[in-house]
Amino acid sequence: MPNLAQLLTTKSSAEYRRVFDLCRAISGEFDDIDAVYVVGGVVRDLILERAPNDIDISVVGNARGFSEALASGLGVNSPVESQFLTFKINAVDLKLGGSSIDVVTARSETYSEPAALPEIAVSSISDDLKRRDFTINAMALSLSNSNWGNLVDPANGFGDVMRKRIKVLHAGSFVDDPTRIFRAVRYATRLGFSIDSRTSWLMSESLAYVDRLSGTRIRNEFEQLLGESKRTDMLRMSEEMGLIGAMSPGLRIGSKALQVLDSQEELGTLSTDLTDLLAIATFGLNEDEATRVIERFDAPAEWGESITGNTRLAKHVALLDRPNILPSELVEILDQIPLASIRAHIAVGPPLPRRDKLNDYMERIRFIKPDLTGIDLIKAGIPEGPIIGKLICIVKRAKLDGHVRSRQEELELALNRLPGFLTN
Ligand code: ATP
Repeated sequence: MPNLAQLLTTKSSAEYRRVFDLCRAISGEFDDIDAVYVVGGVVRDLILERAPNDIDISVVGNARGFSEALASGLGVNSPVESQFLTFKINAVDLKLGGSSIDVVTARSETYSEPAALPEIAVSSISDDLKRRDFTINAMALSLSNSNWGNLVDPANGFGDVMRKRIKVLHAGSFVDDPTRIFRAVRYATRLGFSIDSRTSWLMSESLAYVDRLSGTRIRNEFEQLLGESKRTDMLRMSEEMGLIGAMSPGLRIGSKALQVLDSQEELGTLSTDLTDLLAIATFGLNEDEATRVIERFDAPAEWGESITGNTRLAKHVALLDRPNILPSELVEILDQIPLASIRAHIAVGPPLPRRDKLNDYMERIRFIKPDLTGIDLIKAGIPEGPIIGKLICIVKRAKLDGHVRSRQEELELALNRLPGFLTN
């Protein structure tokens, strides 16, 4: 069993070292704790000399008592039990790479059917490592005083980190949990690793099981992918291997959308706002496809808006090419469309006259408002009520189209139109 204590001491930042040292001290204080390990992605990242994210600690024994002592030693709030004997310590103030320290009870997981949530039982560290996704994530480093720094690595994850290889732990892994297909794509792209050929074959053989994941789980995976800094490469890889199509019938990411994401990323102009990314990624879907995607993803309102916004804009966008379209008509159409969909159309849509109109709307026209306010109209003697809004709309349209040029002209127009409303 190799000893990698130096990863915990000289190779870790002061903040991580403080956590590891505390774990070491606390592990000796409890009779009902057999062992404490730092596990998973943190070990992988420490070996790679990358800054880790959240810290995952596996405790063989009393994880609750351990996590409470750790939180108190760190001077932060008590842990919250998040799921089966798992305790989350809020670490946002601790200057670690991630926002939490997760203390789990070492456990085994079994799957009664494909893509189901696992059945969990308290177990040993070796079972805890067996339940993991890839060899590079199935390592544990001991934080106990007696064998501080000993590496537990039954699947030779260390060798795979050295070979830069993503390798699954067993043949049924992607069937048990198809979210691991997304995870493989994320790790391969993020770390610049290749996917071992058998693992890659198993991934494509298991694509059909993605269909069994709930909308929330699949959406969570897609959102994580969009949140990564190498999102475009991940989307491209997912598209090429059929993962995008496996997520939802009708979903695809076009080559133009990928090109745009690439070039915006290169220029540093890519918005990382989820609604913008979704609008670009789903650009070109027709109405029926958009509806199916929204249903499949059990999409919350902001997702739905971005995806259907594209199709709503596509319906009207040809009107924008008319040479004599008035600014007020432009506003009437585009005020109904989410800004993310308009931005996506400017970036990915065809460069017809409409692109200039869309740009003009985004940069100038949408900010044009009448100088006249509802209060001015009330002061001028117009009774409060829906008439005020209607008159302001008329004035706004006239201003957009250049028919009124001052506040006085706006007021005159409103007063001129007033009788029409009063008689109706
Ligand atoms: P990141 O740097 O993205 O946080 P990570 O490897 O720490 O990567 P997490 O999602 O935080 O990933 O999960 C922590 C660990 O839990 C992983 O390293 C892996 O060992 C295990 N794990 C997480 N999700 C799964 C899964 N779906 N199947 C098996 N093991 C998983």
